[in-house]
Amino acid sequence: MTESAFPAGALAAALAGAVADGSLDVVDLTAPLSERTPILQLPEPFANTVPFTLREISRYDERGPAWYWNDIVTGEHVGTHFDAPVHWATGRDGEDVAQVDPRRLIAPAAVLDASAQAADDPGFLLQIDHVREWEKAHGPLPGGGWLLYRTGWDARSDDPDAFLNGGVWPGLSTDCARWLAEETPVLGLGVETVGTDAGAAHGFDPPFPCHSHFLGAGKYGLTQLRNLARLPARGAVLVAAPLPIAGGSGSPCRVLALVDR
Ligand code: MN
Repeated sequence: MTESAFPAGALAAALAGAVADGSLDVVDLTAPLSERTPILQLPEPFANTVPFTLREISRYDERGPAWYWNDIVTGEHVGTHFDAPVHWATGRDGEDVAQVDPRRLIAPAAVLDASAQAADDPGFLLQIDHVREWEKAHGPLPGGGWLLYRTGWDARSDDPDAFLNGGVWPGLSTDCARWLAEETPVLGLGVETVGTDAGAAHGFDPPFPCHSHFLGAGKYGLTQLRNLARLPARGAVLVAAPLPIAGGSGSPCRVLALVDR
């Protein structure tokens, strides 16, 4: 541990104070979980995840007169969620979701806005040159930080049909996925869509290149983010909090962004 320039407790107190007095905004990037939360639909013969479901145990009634509670039924990869390396065959020897160092769950974020391109072309694929243009304007990608890919897709997230859009949604080219995962210092990729890969990525080489390259490199994925339009291109800090499901491949995740006002 390096010696801090601040008195004991000062940094944590400054953080709490800045949140309390509003000088630090807290932007919730998480979609609400409900039975209408869109989920990925794989074609036959592949198995699919279940939708999110609440099962009532009691609600101030004979089953529990003074209390209300539910069981939840959910997949690991439902709604706003975290992909751990073991989710993919290329990362099978890597971390499960409970093994991720909590210090990596608080990290800076770069926000790349491709919402105009995705509005013109819902199958838009981000290329390496787009990221290089972002770096020319904003500086290098943050080491150990997230690349958040804004496409405007969050506007569709309350409507499963529009969100899944017949299997057409934006993503990254294979080259861009491989380059980001293997040649840049980012921690992972965050997207607004149902998965980190484009809707058409089952036909790419390799199939699902974001999953294949990022998870294979020990990096992470965040999906179904919203409110990225409220973040600066750089300077936000993300708090991504997946449940520590022992042996799990991912988890629904609360994702908060801390932004200087
Ligand atoms: Mn996933």
